[in-house]
Amino acid sequence: HSPVDPWPAPDEIASESALRPSALDDFEGQPRVVDQLSLVLQAARHRGSTPDHVLLSGPPGLGKTTLAMIIANEMGVPLHITSGPAIQHAGDLAAILSGLTEGEVLFLDEIHRMSRPAEELLYLAMEDFRVDVVVGKGPGATAIPIEIPPFTLVGATTRAGLLPGPLRDRFGFTAQLDYYDSVDLERIARRSAGKLGITLDAESAAEIARRSRGTPRIANRLLRRVRDYAQVHNAGVVTAELARDALELYEVDPLGLDRLDRAVLDAICRRFGGGPVGLSTLAISVAEETETIEEVAEPFLVRLGFMMRTPRGRIATPAGWAHLGMVPPTQEPA
Ligand code: ADP
Repeated sequence: HSPVDPWPAPDEIASESALRPSALDDFEGQPRVVDQLSLVLQAARHRGSTPDHVLLSGPPGLGKTTLAMIIANEMGVPLHITSGPAIQHAGDLAAILSGLTEGEVLFLDEIHRMSRPAEELLYLAMEDFRVDVVVGKGPGATAIPIEIPPFTLVGATTRAGLLPGPLRDRFGFTAQLDYYDSVDLERIARRSAGKLGITLDAESAAEIARRSRGTPRIANRLLRRVRDYAQVHNAGVVTAELARDALELYEVDPLGLDRLDRAVLDAICRRFGGGPVGLSTLAISVAEETETIEEVAEPFLVRLGFMMRTPRGRIATPAGWAHLGMVPPTQEPA
């Protein structure tokens, strides 16, 4: 598991929960989303009703689960957490929905990965607070409607475009989370440091923020690695130098590239003259699966403007060459 992987490692759940903000006021960044959501929650409290269903979209690690927990917290209601892949049968979802208490928040992560029948059951539940349970098979089958208490669905997806229109339309409020800027990430790192009982000086917070790929989960993870390093080296206050040394040890470079990102960039430039090179050739040359290249390394290199995907293959940009300290070979005039 790379230190800059945006998905949580299986053994990371507990350490992550310890760093979650529990109130909307403590949620850093995303000011528009926070303001809009705050209004939705206040209005619901005024009316004494449950808030509209909320759809949160954005890359992993940007705070979707955290916001779902905050919504339940702010409304003073319980939270039930599940995910699309965990619900393969409509019956699984019917059981969860009929077990909800009034006002409860249901967080459905990776909602785009639910099965079709479960999705259709969800439409009705979101709209009419009712599920139809089908009893029997074939021509004798009958649907028995079961009322469920009003609840708030908080759905999360990495891309809202993956959701079928009818499902998207049933959310009263939709928010798109964006990558965080370094000022927000510095604040997140400093707040988390406080919770971990360590002190970051201003520059060390900036060192961590710079390497976090715009992602709070990564900022928190790098911070924990820096904390380990500081403890072993008996450092009271974390300085920029100490943060840099720690992150170098974990092979995270100043822009947040890890070993694989650099290997990919290096292969395109050094072995294939800057490209174009096909994905599978590239994967073989860095001894990785094509999916890992395509889903993990490539998106970040493209986001940084270090490489491009063209119909003929992957190519390195001048900025990509520069990051390796090299200049692209001059093109022969045609
Ligand atoms: P997602 O569900 O989008 O993958 P999470 O909500 O699990 O992301 O957030 C990952 C980690 O980052 C958590 O430990 C959380 O505390 C932290 N985090 C995310 N967004 C923020 C934020 N805006 N302010 C402070 N911490 C945040």
